[in-house]
Amino acid sequence: MTSIRTTLKQLGITEWQLRPYANPAISEAPSVSLDTLNQCILHCQRCPLSQTRKQAIFGIGNPKAKLMLIGEQPDAHTDATKLPFTGPVGELLTKMLAAIEQTPDSVYLTTLVKCHPLDNRSPFGNEIAECLPYLQQQIALVQPKVILTMGPLAIQSLLAYKTSLATLRGQTLAFGDTRIPIIASYTPAYLLHNPSDKRGAFQDLLRVAALLKEVPR
Ligand code: SF4
Repeated sequence: MTSIRTTLKQLGITEWQLRPYANPAISEAPSVSLDTLNQCILHCQRCPLSQTRKQAIFGIGNPKAKLMLIGEQPDAHTDATKLPFTGPVGELLTKMLAAIEQTPDSVYLTTLVKCHPLDNRSPFGNEIAECLPYLQQQIALVQPKVILTMGPLAIQSLLAYKTSLATLRGQTLAFGDTRIPIIASYTPAYLLHNPSDKRGAFQDLLRVAALLKEVPR
């Protein structure tokens, strides 16, 4: 597997500062840009998902968004089309955002791992460990005021917790030294198959909206 440093070197980028895995204590912006990080991810071969993906999906939306959404992985539709807000999952996500007066263009959307696992299985621990530094860098670059994680793996990996999503939901968590507030919720894909939990997801969104209202414009 090619290292991030090697990939960046091939791209002529030398200022990369690799942060430790599973260390959420990011309090300063890295020296690379989102575009540079994007290029690195597009060429990434750090884990086996690089062998089966159609394309790596970096992130989309407003790079200065107050709200960052973090899902678990690109779905098959996004892997094929590179369009995260289309297909059944994307359409539900768009409706969820509308409920708190947000749009796909007002937020920044990314995922825990950037490449789609075949058969839509959950990513393995080694795949998450290899990809997590990218997410940490994205948070440091976008510097959102509020983070909404979608799915258990996203919140557990970001905070290095083993606690269940059921326990973490309903709390306002915080990201490392930055103390960026995090609300943990379900993935849209889960909600498509478990519509009875949409009410709980709406409560999570209301918490996000309340936190956003506290942020100066
Ligand atoms: S999932 Fe992440 S670490 Fe693995 S190949 Fe894709 S971008 Fe690289």
